[in-house]
Amino acid sequence: MKLPIYLDHHSTTPVDSRVLDAMFPYFRDEFGNAASRTHVFGWKAEAAVEAARERVAVAIHGSPVEIVFTSGATESNNLAIKGVVDANAAKGNHVVTAATEHPSVLDVCRRLERERKIELTVLPVDSMGRIELAAVRAAIGPRTVLVTLMLANNEIGTIHPIAEVGRITKAAGVLLHCDATQAVGKIPVDVQAMGIDLLSLTAHKLYGPKGIGALWLRRKNPRVRIAPQIDGGGHERGLRSGTLNVPGIVGFGRAVEIAIEGMDEERRRVRGLRDRLHRALASAIEGMTLNGSPDDGLDGNLNVSVAGVQAESLVIRLKDVAVSTGSACASASGGPSHVLRAIGVADDLVHASIRFGIGRFNTEEEIDYAAKRVVEEVQLLRETAPCSDEADARSSRRS
Ligand code: PMP
Repeated sequence: MKLPIYLDHHSTTPVDSRVLDAMFPYFRDEFGNAASRTHVFGWKAEAAVEAARERVAVAIHGSPVEIVFTSGATESNNLAIKGVVDANAAKGNHVVTAATEHPSVLDVCRRLERERKIELTVLPVDSMGRIELAAVRAAIGPRTVLVTLMLANNEIGTIHPIAEVGRITKAAGVLLHCDATQAVGKIPVDVQAMGIDLLSLTAHKLYGPKGIGALWLRRKNPRVRIAPQIDGGGHERGLRSGTLNVPGIVGFGRAVEIAIEGMDEERRRVRGLRDRLHRALASAIEGMTLNGSPDDGLDGNLNVSVAGVQAESLVIRLKDVAVSTGSACASASGGPSHVLRAIGVADDLVHASIRFGIGRFNTEEEIDYAAKRVVEEVQLLRETAPCSDEADARSSRRS
């Protein structure tokens, strides 16, 4: 077993060696610009991009002409939301989202609210992070142009009933954007069956490289129109200018292909490891509470709060086990997790929360070691914690 052990797969994933093998030639021999039409270097790069486009499209039951390559899901979310709002200004200015969305959705919506005076409805969630379908239906009005909801949550793993939401938005004639960053390659995603109109995804959450993602845009029933947010050479049908990241795109295609092929088996294995970790921690740590509902959430997600323990101190001491407090995305801006707050976790338990993300290459041996180390450090921290603080923290539970 090699240390440190990586249990933070919602943050990013290692690049699968099969993906790396596929990418390698496109750095050295096949380095052409996919937009170069006058020589074989360009043609080969373009052919590789188109093969990858097909793979990405097939994985979500879309068509290759509906894929726009971007730098990742942050850009895809920006392009989708700003693009729809800009293109539909004549029709309306109301956007519906939910409190547990990623900052690359929530912050975009808030900026549009401030700067473009859109009307924003942020739906609340219940203690498991679930939205209410009736609330989605009620939020949609004559001026609504977009509902944007994630498929799977990056902190607590909650999976939204997107197909049901899709039926509501279709009936109302409103576009549905779905941030499927944590879902593609982990659970089945079908833009047709789910009634999605725009979908964001990224390679680095599915064992592909960082800095490459895509926005899928429905072309028929309805044809989705968006305003580009980056102008330039007119790449990607004029929707996202900029020289294509050919090795990244090739890696993205291969990563998606591998993830889809092995999904059923990987889901079972990852869920087994997650449950093993949960059992080991729950049997040894008193006062541990679950955030979210592992039984019907993402297979690799386990988010817990350990009463009386500062998660920051715990993760610093766990030098040989890589886990995250709250979410890495939220911790980049330093704030406490908006997701845990939205599901009603009390402040002290928000600061006591740890997110485990189990992935493709984790083993039982690693899980057992990680559980043992977490239990050891929790015990040490509790022994050294001032008694009163610990008692206070233990007495507060999710509100
Ligand atoms: N949405 C969700 C749900 C995410 O988890 C992340 C990454 N943490 C993003 C969007 C942003 O993805 P990227 O890193 O590709 O910009």
